[in-house]
Amino acid sequence: MDGFIDYQIKLMRRKTIGIYILPDGVVEVRAPKRTTRQSIATFVAGNRQWIEQRMALAEQRKGRPFNVFGRPRQVLVELGQRRYIRLSARQLRIVILPGDDDEAMRQQLKAWLLVIARRYLARRLVANLDWCHVLRVDKPELRVRYMRSRWGSCSLSGRVNLSTTLVQLPVEFCDYVIAHELCHLRVFNHSPRFYQLMQVLQPDWRLKREYLKQIETGVEVMQIKSYLHR
Ligand SMILES: [Zn+2]
Repeated sequence: MDGFIDYQIKLMRRKTIGIYILPDGVVEVRAPKRTTRQSIATFVAGNRQWIEQRMALAEQRKGRPFNVFGRPRQVLVELGQRRYIRLSARQLRIVILPGDDDEAMRQQLKAWLLVIARRYLARRLVANLDWCHVLRVDKPELRVRYMRSRWGSCSLSGRVNLSTTLVQLPVEFCDYVIAHELCHLRVFNHSPRFYQLMQVLQPDWRLKREYLKQIETGVEVMQIKSYLHR
């Protein structure tokens, strides 16, 4: 305790001191094994403003995990010496620099999502390439970018655009969106002919459409918004 902020200390094998705001709002300082209480207290005092800002945000986001590949991950934000993001089975660890504000973190998360989404969505397209044969269309050019209000779109020139936010969904919904856009390469509207093709590619397209509609107005997109928008 430094008189202002309550925190718990975890001495462990690591090289630098890191401050974690745990999902329940607890402040945890992780430090190399031989770090003195005094140097931890000094470090915490020096970053007091940052910790208070983070705690206020953690309070707003309490209990709201961030989904990656359809699985909820607890978000840990840590102050470090370089920016990076690490994904593990249960956690999404975001390491930011001292002085980074919320907008900087959002941009960092968006940039990271773009990198993993490009790789992941390109792989999903290849995994479903037989759909192109069924539809008798060429493998489309794929463009991945962050889209605020849509999962995907396609252009008359035969390009498929997918949103980075698709990496938040379980893989079957990601494939559903890809199927939808591929069908548009054949039928550029939502006519019965379009849904006949969807029926071939995704016999349960109705259920998936309903699910996506629900999460568009529900909690999961709120999560995306709370991390990515003001
Ligand atoms: Zn459509």
